Amino acid sequence: MKDFFGKDASVLKNKKLFLFDMDGTIYRENDLFDGVIELLAKIKEKGGRYAFITNNPSKSVIDYVKKLKKLGITNATEEDFFTSAQATVLLLKERFGDKLIYAQGTKSFIKGIKKGGLNITEKYTENAAAILVSFDTELTAKKMRVSCEMLTKNDIPYYATNPDWVCPVSFGSIPDCGSMCVGYEYATGKKPIFIGKPESLMVFAVMDKFSVKKEETVVIGDRLYTDVAAGVNAGVDTICVLSGEATLEDLENSDIKPTFVLNSVKDIVL
Ligand SMILES: [Mg+2]
Repeated sequence: MKDFFGKDASVLKNKKLFLFDMDGTIYRENDLFDGVIELLAKIKEKGGRYAFITNNPSKSVIDYVKKLKKLGITNATEEDFFTSAQATVLLLKERFGDKLIYAQGTKSFIKGIKKGGLNITEKYTENAAAILVSFDTELTAKKMRVSCEMLTKNDIPYYATNPDWVCPVSFGSIPDCGSMCVGYEYATGKKPIFIGKPESLMVFAVMDKFSVKKEETVVIGDRLYTDVAAGVNAGVDTICVLSGEATLEDLENSDIKPTFVLNSVKDIVL
């Protein structure tokens, strides 16, 4: 098979682990893209694995299983997912153990990271070891105020789940965690350390889980500065699909270069 620009992409036939982004890559909000079900079946038929890695921490893995089942991927299980919330638990557990962490996020996110073993408070405190903010589809002025008070009065490490500027929805986009953090920076002067893609943490975590090598792995996504960059940072092959955010103009102007470019995942031939 050849990619969008005619580059030979037959190396994809040898891949064992396919790490898919979700929004803009396999669906847009509630519409599953053509060819996704067939491609996933083909990967399994060839003895490969796939996982959905997402920067969106506002939903738990169980919510994602439900969502994909509803969209027609009826055999989706919890094992198929790795979210920036799971990456956050791994990283903050390693760095802070059971110390108190102030966190702002959706109910589902807070529940998930508590279940993962983090010691979390959502109230203002001067006893926290770190501050964590995440993409918050339940954000209120009251929550923003508490986060800004935490950032202003406490000089402690500050993390954010994902650097995305926008989250795609049916009519266009809404501001995501990266944009929210810019607002907080204007208000408090503080900038976070981001955990999700483009950091390589999520890619390596899934490769480890399935004992797969770099050469056998490919990252597939619609964004250069998160999905493709995460693959590049992990040293694995990448596919940029044009079914979501990235345009041909972005590809030309960006320093982040995917290994292959395709119109959509439907064009992946295995
Ligand atoms: Mg995406």
